[in-house]
Amino acid sequence: MEQEKTCNCLECEAREKAHKESEDMNFAVLVALMPLMALTVFSSIGLI
Ligand SMILES: [Zn+2]
Repeated sequence: MEQEKTCNCLECEAREKAHKESEDMNFAVLVALMPLMALTVFSSIGLI
């Protein structure tokens, strides 16, 4: 994903930082949910 370059004032810097942190958080949640989703899929098709 391409980041749009913004100016370097504190407001934009803070906003960018918060945006990146929320992306990292989303990714962490996704990774954390992966085993659970796999488990659900496998059990629903009868492999477990
Ligand atoms: Zn700015």
